[in-house]
Amino acid sequence: MKIKIQPVDPAKRRPKPADESKLVFGKTFSDHMFLMDYKAEAGWQDPRVVPYQALEMDPSAMVLHYGQGIFEGLKGYRCRDGRIHLFRPQKNWERLNRSARKLCMPEIDVAFQFEALHELLKIDKDWIPHSIGSSLYIRPTMIASEPHLGVRPAHEYLYYIITGPVAAYYPEGFNPVTIYVSDEFVRTVRGGLGEAKTMANYASSLYAAEVAKKKGFTQVLWLDGVERRFVEEVGTMNIFFRIKDELVTPPLTGSILPGITRDSVIQLAAHWGIQVHERPIEIAEVVDAIRSGDMKEVFGTGTAAVISPVAEMSYKEKSYRVQKGEVGEWSQRFYDEIVGIQYGEKEDPFGWIYEV
Ligand code: PMP
Repeated sequence: MKIKIQPVDPAKRRPKPADESKLVFGKTFSDHMFLMDYKAEAGWQDPRVVPYQALEMDPSAMVLHYGQGIFEGLKGYRCRDGRIHLFRPQKNWERLNRSARKLCMPEIDVAFQFEALHELLKIDKDWIPHSIGSSLYIRPTMIASEPHLGVRPAHEYLYYIITGPVAAYYPEGFNPVTIYVSDEFVRTVRGGLGEAKTMANYASSLYAAEVAKKKGFTQVLWLDGVERRFVEEVGTMNIFFRIKDELVTPPLTGSILPGITRDSVIQLAAHWGIQVHERPIEIAEVVDAIRSGDMKEVFGTGTAAVISPVAEMSYKEKSYRVQKGEVGEWSQRFYDEIVGIQYGEKEDPFGWIYEV
């Protein structure tokens, strides 16, 4: 499929950020967007790059009623020598297709997803910020656009990619988070949508996140939806525990989003000779290990922060500090390595980097 390009009128270019360090996440968008449509009888059609603009949608568009929508999140990094890197984008394309299958939506050929982003980045290259730590956030999205009321998979979809520059997540070094263990609200259940990157999962996380915030905590630690016994994720991140010299993270059993940073940490740990166990971990075991001092580090992993060290955890109205709230050695090591690879400052033994 040939991608049509309609560049923005130079007079209508969006203003570039005056100060990259002041960018607020998700508020600034680049000049262009990629779009294409799907119709059941014709498949994906009319791929195009057009000026960033509002979407025209029928108020009965099915996504607006039944939430049939999925998305991805990845970043473009500008290296010191000007090269542009993506970090394991193939994984995002594959995850988008897994989410699509779960939501009864059409898949998109992986090679074509690359091509679409390539075209968009070619025209909006200047939007990728320059300072190390800052990046271009990329948000591929697929929604059910068919105008129809009635619950069933839609016959028409819209796929689009928008991008926008974002500031460094940690301009002054790590900022450890405090987490509230929710034993009342759950994000998802096994057999549900948890492993898909779909809008519904974020909607169902909001209430608990507000409760946690009111209590003075930054993020929610999600437990399993049946017994509220096993740890699942933290906020919109996967979670890791360093217990003595072993790294533990919950297994992917359907209710957890298979994070790309999670997979990278697991691979790096194995590469470094660290024992990694993907196994169910009970919240009771976490509390005991913090109490006994065996819990050396707790951290979240995700595209936004890469590594997010956890300083404190509250469970059943009791607070537990992890190693006096200090950032652990492994958290720092994983962070430095992954960020180093992303910005081309460190070797990439795994072939994770895709140069645009
Ligand atoms: N869990 C959830 C619920 C998320 O939204 C994210 C962010 N995509 C992650 C985990 C981390 O995934 P990744 O490392 O691919 O960003």
